[in-house]
Amino acid sequence: MKKVKTAVITGSNSGIGLGIAHALAAEGHNVVINSFTERDEDHALAEEISSKHGNRTVYVKADMSKGDECRSLVEKAAEEFGAVDILVNNAGIQHVAAIEEFPVDAWDRVIAINMNSAFHTTAVALLIMRENNWGRVVNIASAHGLTASPYKSAYVTAKHGVVGMTKVVALETAEDPITCNAICPGYVLTPLVEAQIPDTMEKYGMDRDTVVREVLLERQPSKQFATVEQIGGTVVFLCSDHAAQITGTTISVDGGWTAL
Ligand code: NAD
Repeated sequence: MKKVKTAVITGSNSGIGLGIAHALAAEGHNVVINSFTERDEDHALAEEISSKHGNRTVYVKADMSKGDECRSLVEKAAEEFGAVDILVNNAGIQHVAAIEEFPVDAWDRVIAINMNSAFHTTAVALLIMRENNWGRVVNIASAHGLTASPYKSAYVTAKHGVVGMTKVVALETAEDPITCNAICPGYVLTPLVEAQIPDTMEKYGMDRDTVVREVLLERQPSKQFATVEQIGGTVVFLCSDHAAQITGTTISVDGGWTAL
């Protein structure tokens, strides 16, 4: 993959999305980073990526809980760069509660941001990819797209949905030079995971180290977090020519979690 491509990464001003943005920028690609905020820091982040890697990076505000904004994110990227070749559906949030107590608005937000957004962005991006005769859709699912944990009903439902959607998109594009795959990370130490630590410490009466080893990494046999660089590298691989026949599947980056 020598030509400069244009990549859109949803939810990418932090954590895994930001790591993927750096990895694709390091390959020289144009990158669109995104979140729902419109702050100087967001645009400064885009400039920082461009100056570090010598590529073109822009920040586009769009709220991934809203279908029309998901669609316009891809359209704006195509207007800016003339194409969208790589779409990484990464935006995601978590809410932890027993199903009987799960707030309806939290359920709706998790499903909208973690699953529905990928439907909207993919629908628009595929039109552009088919026109340009090349495309890569990479969905950031989760080990929770393949297995379950208690108290994460909306998240597990959304991530299983994303894995299902990945297979359907792969079949609908199977004869085109377009692939669609899902990466299923185990625990990666990002703000999303950090935010779960205080509640878990309180819930189990544990200190931070015990929560990390015995709760968060309980099911991750390597007992190590995956890194944003490892997820970024996996996206770069899926966008390479070596991965042209990999479609409709999941790649776990989970330290052995789903082998258990
Ligand atoms: P994070 O909280 O660091 O990043 C989430 C990103 O999504 C942020 O950039 C945030 O601004 C953005 N976002 C949230 N709501 C949005 C909205 N309405 N519109 C646009 N953007 C929005 O989290 P992360 O850990 O980097 O997670 C990224 C993805 O990876 C998520 O889909 C998550 O489910 C998945 N994942 C994370 C882990 C992990 O251990 N961190 C494991 C498996 C899967």
